[in-house]
Amino acid sequence: MTARTFPTGTIIGYPRIGRRRELKRAVEAFWAGRIDAEELEHAAAELRAATRERLAGLGLGRDDSSIPESFSYYDQVLDTAVAVGAIPERFAHLLDDEGRADLAALFTIARGEGEQAPLEMTKWFDSNYHYLVPEISPATSFALHAERILGTFAEARAAGYLTRPVIVGPVTFLALAKAADDAPDGFRPLDRLDDLLPVYARLLERLGEAGAHWVQLDEPALVSESLDESRARLVDAARTAYGALGALERRPAIFVAAPYGSLDEALPALAATPVEAIGLDLVRGALPAAFDPATAESLAAKTLVAGVVDGHNVWRGDLAATLERAEAVRSITGSVAVSTSTSLLHVPHDLEDEPQLDPRLASWLAFADQKVAQVAVLARGLAEGRPAIERELDAASAALADRAEAPGVRVAAVRDRLAGLDRDDFSRAPYAERVEAQESLGLPGLPTTTIGSFPQTAEIRRARAGLVNGSLQAEEYTARMREEIERVIRLQERIGLDVLVHGEPERNDMVQYFAELLDGFAVTANGWVQSYGSRCTRPSILWGDVSRPAPMTVEWSSYAQSLTEKPVKGMLTGPVTILAWSFVRDDLPLGDTARQVALALRDEISDLEGAGIRIIQVDEPALRELLPLKRADQPEYLDWSVGSFRLATAGAASGTQVHTHLCYSEFGVVIDAIRNLDADVTSIEAARSRMEVVDDLASSGFDHGIGPGVYDIHSPRVPSVDEVTALLERAVGEIPVTRLWVNPDCGLKTRGYDETVASLENLVAATNEVRAHV
Ligand code: GLN
Ligand code: ZN
Repeated sequence: MTARTFPTGTIIGYPRIGRRRELKRAVEAFWAGRIDAEELEHAAAELRAATRERLAGLGLGRDDSSIPESFSYYDQVLDTAVAVGAIPERFAHLLDDEGRADLAALFTIARGEGEQAPLEMTKWFDSNYHYLVPEISPATSFALHAERILGTFAEARAAGYLTRPVIVGPVTFLALAKAADDAPDGFRPLDRLDDLLPVYARLLERLGEAGAHWVQLDEPALVSESLDESRARLVDAARTAYGALGALERRPAIFVAAPYGSLDEALPALAATPVEAIGLDLVRGALPAAFDPATAESLAAKTLVAGVVDGHNVWRGDLAATLERAEAVRSITGSVAVSTSTSLLHVPHDLEDEPQLDPRLASWLAFADQKVAQVAVLARGLAEGRPAIERELDAASAALADRAEAPGVRVAAVRDRLAGLDRDDFSRAPYAERVEAQESLGLPGLPTTTIGSFPQTAEIRRARAGLVNGSLQAEEYTARMREEIERVIRLQERIGLDVLVHGEPERNDMVQYFAELLDGFAVTANGWVQSYGSRCTRPSILWGDVSRPAPMTVEWSSYAQSLTEKPVKGMLTGPVTILAWSFVRDDLPLGDTARQVALALRDEISDLEGAGIRIIQVDEPALRELLPLKRADQPEYLDWSVGSFRLATAGAASGTQVHTHLCYSEFGVVIDAIRNLDADVTSIEAARSRMEVVDDLASSGFDHGIGPGVYDIHSPRVPSVDEVTALLERAVGEIPVTRLWVNPDCGLKTRGYDETVASLENLVAATNEVRAHV
């Protein structure tokens, strides 16, 4: 292998969805049969070409491997599974004679078809991106299908670019996979590392033959302490994998990227292998204080890629401090490059696409394109010295100083209120006392309810859009929402549910709805970020101290309550979830921001109580999502996250029943946290795991109200009465009937009305059956 210098500035990856969500549109058009595979390929190629051109325009080199090929039609882990031939048996019939997956097959594996379940989807490290979980068994026969990777690289070359292919590394690929159903007990995907490595080796050789100088292998698994594999085993695997790949004779230079945290003990292991460059996340992670002599010597001979520009957040940040952080890496090796800490996949494309954003706020921000420009500036500063970029450093410092003193960033009243909190503000009366006070709600045994949203019909979406674009007047909009609320209330009464909801028709999104009504938040027009596949969200930007200028939900909830004798649940999104699904500020500890949001919600709860609402649900589906990857960071997180929920809800009177909802059932390390939320009733997902969670809860000493979901809302399938009855009976065996609630797994907003009505009718019928004999 000939020596190659790594480019001085690069990024780990770039958003793939397109600045106007072109890829989403093309992919969905393909799914709907409006365009064919060739047209989709064409749209994707155009997007990749535009991305390369854009990145070069922003200062990355055209011919020095600094532009990453990080495009994906759906998900990079799925792409890797396809490239190494790790496709589960149930999809085998979709592959061609050579075992290749075409576009249609790729999407079927991602989304399922009929009875055929897709790959499972789960969270990508501590981001809001979700990847598809490969299924590996002892029988998985790995084989290289490099057509797409090679094709994209060749496409770039033909257009005059020498780019850097990006692939999920072998350790992370296996560490994120799950054992296939047919694998024997105790089998772990990482057991197959030795079988997988030859495929990666062949891929590297092919890329070398095609003319690639550098290839990037993403290994974020090496920073995580939250995977099923032990750290020791991951580190060992890294040693094996990169020892073997590094030893290849004909290959491109290898850049191992490790975003989302520090490599810790994995760094010496990687250092000992022949890889040429290692990427460090210096935003989430830090530079180790010292190395053993052998590691120091090996690192001195490598390029260290300093991930100093935050790929996870939208702040312009302190550029001078960023440069310093990169310069500090020079004490380890003379060969330092600048990059983003993670792929820019987590931030929107371009601030220039937000002309309606307050210009002052905009001057404090950097989206993907602005961050690429920052990388280019820092690379110049690193190469030519600080004076060469003085002007840019000064401009960034001025923006930072302006931000520190701008109105709204620090609001004395909010700070004072936070400073005045004491322990009592975080606690309600003892549970037993609350149970007694809540008896006046007059609920039957096994009360039935739903999680909050009802199907969002096309008319509802149109009305909301009409309000935004001005084609619908506020009064007309309110009238339509009220009609919808009344319809939903009457429907629930007819079905016979006990605790009703207003249906959330007015909410575009459970976080953005509140962000638009709270001070301290801004929302974007085009700030889309890929959540999974073709799904994107537009996270709000939390830039200042948070307060509530006016009630946010009281009008809708009290209107709903005015229509019925049955209790209607007030519906709020909890502080942790609001933070998790927004871009959060970097100039205040997250816990403080969470408590600010909590106080706003606390006031809302008080107003809801004042308006006669007696049951209030505070959703926290993201509680587990935000859990730090490093174990040492978890206690502090759990402390402030649980604390903020308690602060939000502890002002409620004993007679007010506080509910919460969580969208998952594998509680693991958060089980104590969930108990500590001290909600009167907690609804959780349970149907997919056949109520397994009920045993876990029973044995963990959870002793408040609990609503394990009795049917999965992720599919249109209507559960039969018998099925729901069986699940309920299972739950009744473990949980005292006095504490058991009956509800679906989650909100119904993505469902259609037909299946929703049928499912809820069966839920009520099953409950009546079980009630009759307990
Ligand atoms: N109340 C919300 C709804 O029903 C909860 C959604 C969620 O947990 N993700 O839509
Ligand atoms: Zn949910």
